[in-house]
Amino acid sequence: MRFRQASYPQPLIFELRGREDETVENPLPPSLARGELNIPNLEESEVVRHYTRLSQMNYGIDCGFYPLGSCTMKYNPKIMQRLAKSERVRSIHPYQKGDTVQGALQVMYELQQMLCEIGGVDAVTLQPSAGAHGELTGMLITKAYHADRGERRTEVVLPDTAHGTNPASAAMAGFDVIEIPSKNGCVDLDALRSSVGRSTAAFMLTNPNTLGIFEKDVLRIADIVHEAGALLYYDGANLNAIMGKTTPGKMNFDIVHFNLHKTFATPHGGGGPGAGPIGVKKELRDFLPVPIVSFDGKRYYLDYDLQKSIGKVRCFYGNFAVLVKAHAYIKLLGGNGLKKAAERAVLNSNYLRARVEQVLDVPFPGLRKHEFVASALKLRKKGLRALDLCKRLMDYGFHPPTAYFPQIVEEALMIEPTETESKETLDAFANAIESIMNEDIELLKAAPHNAAVKRVDEVKAARDAILSWKMMLRK
Ligand SMILES: *Cc1c(COP(=O)(O)O)cnc(C)c1O
Repeated sequence: MRFRQASYPQPLIFELRGREDETVENPLPPSLARGELNIPNLEESEVVRHYTRLSQMNYGIDCGFYPLGSCTMKYNPKIMQRLAKSERVRSIHPYQKGDTVQGALQVMYELQQMLCEIGGVDAVTLQPSAGAHGELTGMLITKAYHADRGERRTEVVLPDTAHGTNPASAAMAGFDVIEIPSKNGCVDLDALRSSVGRSTAAFMLTNPNTLGIFEKDVLRIADIVHEAGALLYYDGANLNAIMGKTTPGKMNFDIVHFNLHKTFATPHGGGGPGAGPIGVKKELRDFLPVPIVSFDGKRYYLDYDLQKSIGKVRCFYGNFAVLVKAHAYIKLLGGNGLKKAAERAVLNSNYLRARVEQVLDVPFPGLRKHEFVASALKLRKKGLRALDLCKRLMDYGFHPPTAYFPQIVEEALMIEPTETESKETLDAFANAIESIMNEDIELLKAAPHNAAVKRVDEVKAARDAILSWKMMLRK
């Protein structure tokens, strides 16, 4: 095993002492000068070394395989970053007059159109900043739609495989959330039938679901939901499995969100900025946030003419630089390219599943789409858990898969290889799991050994996050 991550005893940049302040003549009047800046006073080389060292103690998609199911970073060509960074993208201002930013409006308009086609919907807003934000927007539209029809529907139904943001978004929009159990990894139609009715506002679903299984009864699901007078919401965070093959629209969904930062090459490292546009069928177009971008045959313009709009969900028109990347990516691949990416994503996932199945359990039979969920339950009898396997994978130079989600699989490992990984990488990952399963128990319990950061207290890290120097000082 040759992987070993760099490790430096690197203090925080605020803890590096820096030069004594030289007395520089301050040209500002004293009333405008701050007493203390409270930033480190370091040489350029010290700053560069500091961040280079931190980067070497990090692990990212540019270092190696990153099979983080569902929330994974897919292919992020560097050309997209260059476009987003270009002077022309950076220097425009949202208050500029429309006739001075026709190019930018065209990019947004075309992106709306392309997402309409990919999603099988009739209208798109680019405003929401993330998947969860798109879900919230969708839920607010759902609420406005029912209110407009004079109905008060208070419940949102979703399956137990739903991504955690789904119930959170529904609750945030003021709905009561009802979770129904799955049957053989898919929506249980009987449970669905008995849980939807006159108080149901929407059913939220992702297809393929978070187990990577395609809900083949989706049209019947749509009928059940629509017959109850409710809307069908599609969590389209990961469209990698179906792009160019089918659309949420064809599956009779009414509202769809797209995570540009998962499917369309706009990485959102460190939590942002992202983009989570939503698309709707034409009956719901009037409820979209304003403005959307329209085209009158001659010029592109910001269109505020949506009669029932829920208002704004974000300042201005969306994260423009992020939209530029997604636009370029979709144009670069084209329809056939997107379809090919979907085929590769599904092929890679099934190849890896077939390899992993030889050492771990993979509950539920059949082919998967872009991801699959294995179970590390076998480790229990050795007193080990999925977490130990994940930590040990880091020693082999792999980012661990998503663990303990979805919750209906015990000791779940959710693995998404993505469309761009080679057979060699997939084999190396499967081989690593295979050899870990035969390793010494104590070795696994104390892993990772070769990573810059050893076991962390995950509960404390989540509950007691110190995210800035100011928070640290307050502690
Ligand atoms: C990532 C993800 C979300 C949430 O998207 P964010 O941009 O992280 O808010 C929702 N659903 C699924 C299935 C996801 O994978």
